Amino acid sequence: MVEIKNSLYKMAAPSTQSLHADAHLRATADVTAPINVSTTFEYAKDKMDGLNYGIDQRYVYTSAGTPTLTKVEATLSTLTDGHAVVYCSGVSAAFSVLIEHRPKKIALGQCFFGINDIVKQYQQLVPGVQIVGINCSFDKVDLVWLESPLNPTGEVMDISSYALRAHAAGALLVVDSTLAPPPLSYPFRQGADIVVHSATKYLGGHNDLLAGVVVTKSAKSADSLRNSRAVLGTIAGSLECWLLLRSLRTLFIRVQQQSQTTARLVAFLENARRMAVATPCHTPSEQEYKLGHRISTVSHASLQLCAANCSFIETQHPHGFGAVFAIRFACKGSALFVARHLSLHRFATSLGGVESLVEWCHGWNSSAYPTLLRISVGLESFDDMAKDWTQTLLALNDYMVAKAKI
Ligand SMILES: *Cc1c(COP(=O)(O)O)cnc(C)c1O
Repeated sequence: MVEIKNSLYKMAAPSTQSLHADAHLRATADVTAPINVSTTFEYAKDKMDGLNYGIDQRYVYTSAGTPTLTKVEATLSTLTDGHAVVYCSGVSAAFSVLIEHRPKKIALGQCFFGINDIVKQYQQLVPGVQIVGINCSFDKVDLVWLESPLNPTGEVMDISSYALRAHAAGALLVVDSTLAPPPLSYPFRQGADIVVHSATKYLGGHNDLLAGVVVTKSAKSADSLRNSRAVLGTIAGSLECWLLLRSLRTLFIRVQQQSQTTARLVAFLENARRMAVATPCHTPSEQEYKLGHRISTVSHASLQLCAANCSFIETQHPHGFGAVFAIRFACKGSALFVARHLSLHRFATSLGGVESLVEWCHGWNSSAYPTLLRISVGLESFDDMAKDWTQTLLALNDYMVAKAKI
């Protein structure tokens, strides 16, 4: 078992950790980590009494590990307060958790459609596996899968309450924390046993790599996952590890900025929606009506705060909410018009990158509302985004008025 965490940076701020947590693994004077592309590593000739004895015992063949991967895992382990194992995708990370724990009965919350597909695959491989909803009884449940914040609405689930219920039933709680990486949330503090991320999203953050992470509480569990990762061949490639390490250096500042812009944009759109509605105290102006009346709902953790029983949200998110939210329109045509006409949000799938994106989830997943758009906020300025949304919503109004006249 190899401990790769650098305890020197345990108490440092996350921004410092993301730059220095792998300092003990530097083997060259390069300030930026080099990329290691070799798939094979020389054996130490003096120890040839069996295989697996490379000069550095960790590196023998790429499917078991590479120096760049070790640096990424060391950095992520420190940032997530656990032991991180990096995979070639988020779904392969999720699948590994199932293969590792072999649950017989899974309580599955609302989650990203790719996770539902992975659970179905697992169910086909292991006959007799039962799936129940997250609000059903946890009787005989051995693994609870919770996503928070939720993709696509950006709303958060009360991790502590599910942890209590899971542990009372003797089950493990897995939290898919893709939409709120550190420093936005730390699910172990609310009782999660395993944390999963699609690193393709915020951890990678530049829409240029595919990877996944499983974070465990013990080094032993992480090593067991690394062994099965080597068997399955689901390790992340060298280029992806290098890009991921490069991205983690700026994680803190990127994610906090994206989170702040999102909270402002959500407030702006929710305000536009409200101001378009006539109430005894407010008569919308023509401009207010045109801007907001086609928005039916805006969903995001920041709008959950006023609801009852939502005091957990601030404890769970000490440094802000995620940078994904959902917006629904009066009709499918309006949603698609907005998706096509926003100029700062590229119309593409995925989320978490520095470029803002807009996705029509129904295109992938027929159970998603056809009137819903998922919005991923990148690093463009709030003022520019507010202008883009204003122009688009006014153009939507004009388009719908013109269409009604035909
Ligand atoms: C994207 C995503 C995944 C899957 O990750 P990939 O890296 O695309 O395999 C899992 N969970 C959530 C919440 C996601 O958004």
